[in-house]
Amino acid sequence: MTISTNLSEINSQISKSCAHSGRKISDVTLVAVSKFQDDGKIDEALNAGLRVFGENRVQEGMSHWEARRAKYPDLQLHLIGPLQSNKAKDAVALFDVIETIDRESIAIELAKECAKQHKNPVCLIQVNTGNEDQKAGVSLDDLPALITKCQDLKLNLQGLMCIPPVDEPAAFHFSLLKKLAARYNLPLLSMGMSADFEKAIKVGATHIRVGTALFGERV
Ligand SMILES: *Cc1c(COP(=O)(O)O)cnc(C)c1O
Repeated sequence: MTISTNLSEINSQISKSCAHSGRKISDVTLVAVSKFQDDGKIDEALNAGLRVFGENRVQEGMSHWEARRAKYPDLQLHLIGPLQSNKAKDAVALFDVIETIDRESIAIELAKECAKQHKNPVCLIQVNTGNEDQKAGVSLDDLPALITKCQDLKLNLQGLMCIPPVDEPAAFHFSLLKKLAARYNLPLLSMGMSADFEKAIKVGATHIRVGTALFGERV
């Protein structure tokens, strides 16, 4: 399957899910997750018309996108993997959207870099909705304080992101994230991956992060 064939299929699933839930297609952004993909696949995705991409790691994001920025000024790059403090500088330099703020120390580092670089990327907080030990994301208990901190730091906080536990119904976690975002007046909801993006759209996702369904299995 080519990426453009996969993309048509995904787009038709997006439009069905939107129709089903009375939402506008333009309110849902497909974030193409290009982690572990080679240059050939990335260029194929660009040729298929994709411009919004997600990367898990800052370093890999730089190697995929730093040079391509010049050729594609309309790129929108999302950081969707955990962020370490020592990568905040590079993250602010590269990414337009940082989806994975999960603790105060990272918020503080990002705010410092935003000031230094005169940048203001859109920020989302990753919420560990399943309270899983091994998973990144702020706990439900610590979320209110982290939101306040981001706002105090003048980060451009716009939404929440989650990755539901693999062994639980995703829809429950999507609904929880939606409720939390509504409670704090945050408009963006990044949720849903290859296996469950249709459900996520029905619940209200504004950003779906799709890798495998678009690129095929990662090698
Ligand atoms: C890898 C990854 C995705 C994409 O997952 P697929 O199942 O391949 O669509 C989405 N979100 C995050 C945070 C990821 O790490």
